[in-house]
Amino acid sequence: MTTETLEFQAEARQLLQLMVHSIYSNKDIFLRELISNSSDALDKLRLAVLTGELEADTADLHIVLEVDAEARTLTVRDNGIGMSRDEVVALIGTIAKSGTAELLSRLKESKESAELIGQFGVGFYSTFMVADRVTLVTRRAGESEGTRWESAGEGTYTIEPVADAPQGTAVTVHLRPKDEEDALFDYADEWKIKEIVKKYSDFIAFPIRLGEQTLNSMKALWARPRSEVKDEEYTEFYRHISHDWTDPLETIQMRAEGTFEYEALLFIPSRAPHDLFQRDGRRGIQLYVKRVFIMDDSRELMPDYLRFVKGVVDAADLSLNISREILQQDRHIQLIRRRLAKKVLSTIKDLQAQQPEKYATLWREFGRAIKEGLLGEADDQKAILDVASFASTAGPEPTTLAAYVERMPEGQDEIYYMTGETRAQVENSPHMEAFTAKGYEVLLLTDPVDEIWVDAVPEYDGKKLQSIARGSVDLAAEPASEEKSGEFAPLLTWLGETLNDEVKEVRLSTRLTTSPACLVSDADDITPTLEKMYRAMGQ
Ligand code: ADP
Ligand code: MG
Repeated sequence: MTTETLEFQAEARQLLQLMVHSIYSNKDIFLRELISNSSDALDKLRLAVLTGELEADTADLHIVLEVDAEARTLTVRDNGIGMSRDEVVALIGTIAKSGTAELLSRLKESKESAELIGQFGVGFYSTFMVADRVTLVTRRAGESEGTRWESAGEGTYTIEPVADAPQGTAVTVHLRPKDEEDALFDYADEWKIKEIVKKYSDFIAFPIRLGEQTLNSMKALWARPRSEVKDEEYTEFYRHISHDWTDPLETIQMRAEGTFEYEALLFIPSRAPHDLFQRDGRRGIQLYVKRVFIMDDSRELMPDYLRFVKGVVDAADLSLNISREILQQDRHIQLIRRRLAKKVLSTIKDLQAQQPEKYATLWREFGRAIKEGLLGEADDQKAILDVASFASTAGPEPTTLAAYVERMPEGQDEIYYMTGETRAQVENSPHMEAFTAKGYEVLLLTDPVDEIWVDAVPEYDGKKLQSIARGSVDLAAEPASEEKSGEFAPLLTWLGETLNDEVKEVRLSTRLTTSPACLVSDADDITPTLEKMYRAMGQ
């Protein structure tokens, strides 16, 4: 049999380096990651058999742990879907996730590596925090030959065919020598293993066995009443499904009874993932049908602007065979999506009223994405405007539109805003002068998406949204007097002729107080920032 030695892809190697040198202090999680992978593999096998894609025995799907204290090894074995040789090379030898290179370069210069790396879900590689060597033996369901993979976590790994591998995957972690001073970290100790499983993996839907004993309760968290579930259990479940290592900001549980029953357990993360604005970024909702995992990344279950929400939807009345195509058209799914979105927005509203700090975090991390929803349905628009906040000339803290309206002085009947690239740029704009002079508050909109939604949203609370840089804003100032117009007529004509190709019109204005001149767009022109954006996109 031939043993090949292959190199890890450069990015994978970098990540492994970080693991070997153990940047993360909680090493226990390597076991959670292995169990999580096994659980995913068992889900995949069960689904493939249910849909008739594969034939395999699914009567006793399980995860087995084997501890050999003398040899100092710990093995996590599952009879799940397994991997082909090519899959091992592609999945274990490389990191295919988008944004990896960028994240790694940030990791190198950052002290909060552990934090950053959490976003990324190091998964399998975390075994190298505790191991000096890792062996993986796997056979894909339906294939006859298995594969053995081994690495010490340095630059290379070996791979070879195995004739008699059982279906599924076994990962053997060759533990580093025991650290006498730190008995806490002895993973060759059965007691320690039981503790970790109970703590991190209790909800896993398949039995996790150690000898004769099943270590986990296997209860679906979303089916249990909230009062019976500890916060830590929710947190661990969140980490399992989100591949994030931080705590969720908020947990939402829902249950619908009647003609179309479903249960949902949703989480708002405390931090935006690095791929939030990437088209192919990982999305968060898993679909189950009566406790059976059906698919990850169900974009149909949550509007795109709430794509950062993670969680599980377990629907009772869907077919196990449901495909993405059918999901997209299913009326019930559309209904669930609307209800989930509504619930998320009302949760944000509650946070805003009752837990302003959490709300501020949420808006800072996800506000940019949420504002994309202003381009959608009218129902959503209203709800989003209610929970949104914006930078404003009123002070350093963002303001809600309701608070803005409350502060509007007598005589002001529009909500003023200006879009631009940075707060400083907008604040120092000549357009701002007359408004500052009048004491009118102006919203400072500097996210790229702001350029777009302002055109889709006509008003809030009966007040028109008005750009101070577009059209003629009527500040109820006296119009330029006839006398003045006459006085400046030659200058205006001269300017108009000289700038003929650059501007449409040169006119006398009352909007400036200290600057001599400013550029104004027509009411229906696109804004300068938007113009730049389009140009940058090559349009
Ligand atoms: P993630 O789970 O976030 O995808 P991991 O590093 O944990 O990342 O695993 C990488 C990939 O390797 C998985 O997505 C899966 O395809 C494959 N894999 C890992 N462990 C197993 C296993 N026990 N059985 C089958 N495939 C596995
Ligand atoms: Mg994983």
